[in-house]
Amino acid sequence: GGTIGILGGGQLGRMLAMAAVQLGYRCIGYAPQGDNVAADVCADFFTNRWDDAQAIAAFAQQCDVITWEFENVPVAPLLPIAERLAPHPRALETAQDRLNEKRFVEDHGGQPAAYAAIDTMSGLLDAVDRLGAPGILKTRRDGYDGKGQWRIDSVRDAEGMRLPDMPTIYEAFVEFEAEFSVILVRGHDGEIRYWDSTRNLHVGGILSQSIWPTGPVVEAQVAKARELSAKVAQALGYVGVLTLEFFATREGPVFNEMAPRVHNSGHWTIEGAATSQFENHIRAICGLPLGDTATIATSVEMTNLVGKDAGGAQQCLGDPTAHLHLYGKAKAREGRKMGHVTRVAFG
Ligand code: ATP
Ligand code: MG
Ligand code: MG
Repeated sequence: GGTIGILGGGQLGRMLAMAAVQLGYRCIGYAPQGDNVAADVCADFFTNRWDDAQAIAAFAQQCDVITWEFENVPVAPLLPIAERLAPHPRALETAQDRLNEKRFVEDHGGQPAAYAAIDTMSGLLDAVDRLGAPGILKTRRDGYDGKGQWRIDSVRDAEGMRLPDMPTIYEAFVEFEAEFSVILVRGHDGEIRYWDSTRNLHVGGILSQSIWPTGPVVEAQVAKARELSAKVAQALGYVGVLTLEFFATREGPVFNEMAPRVHNSGHWTIEGAATSQFENHIRAICGLPLGDTATIATSVEMTNLVGKDAGGAQQCLGDPTAHLHLYGKAKAREGRKMGHVTRVAFG
């Protein structure tokens, strides 16, 4: 038993709390005002600002261990409670800034797309000239689901841009053959286990499907991607579930970004693996033995229900292989992840 504090109120927190409750823990949540669907599964939920260090300290007082489901939690108010946090907030510090993240991964032998930090228009024009087009201009911080990204197809495109009021990064467009992710769990003792990598399909910058088996192109690159992911996890002294996203290219795996948390491309593990990413994250942060990450199905397909897709979702219940997850969100705004369906085949 004991109390687990979860920072963030979205579906990842909801599914973490469901796994924690099954293991006999009590969960409490903390997030700013909003549609905090994790609150449905938490014994108590506190709505306060992220920068309210006092409120976060008071929340921490009530928890045996604290984790997060949202990677953009400001780090400063977490430093005083770092001892009770898992993973350590240094993982957030690294992953919250695309420039830091890429440099960190390069330092550990990873290869990101060619990139340049952009602060001015002349810097952007210079970068497009040097790195070529097409490319993508991304805000260094706060982006998710493809938000804060602009595709640039030519120098002329760049000339017509208005830079956002925050630091950005320009990345050369990677002509990938496929996208995949490495999801691992690392325990307090440093043991690492991996789930099978899925092939991830995005539509409009948002994950649409994760599929396994992936086919030979991805399969051939998973070992190298895992090796890098393990180095990153070790260097961060990471405890819990960590995700690295990759592009499979002719030149091998190209690092896209990391998520220091459970990941949408791992939702299939609830039905398709011996132990889900959510349960293993809870096990890791609570110091329990890690569960088996083996895939127990012969094929897996996870499909996100985004925006209006969620209407009529119950139709899939006629399919005996389908498992429906709805997050209980009030409004189906465009581009909003409302739920997912996992189809698993056995034999
Ligand atoms: P997430 O919700 O995964 O955190 P995000 O907003 O951080 O998303 P990215 O992962 O950077 O966004 O990009 C979203 C998607 O856009 C990628 O999965 C990929 O399909 C495409 N993309 C991003 N950068 C590149 C690139 N340099 N070359 C080719 N495609 C890219
Ligand atoms: Mg991201
Ligand atoms: Mg991404």
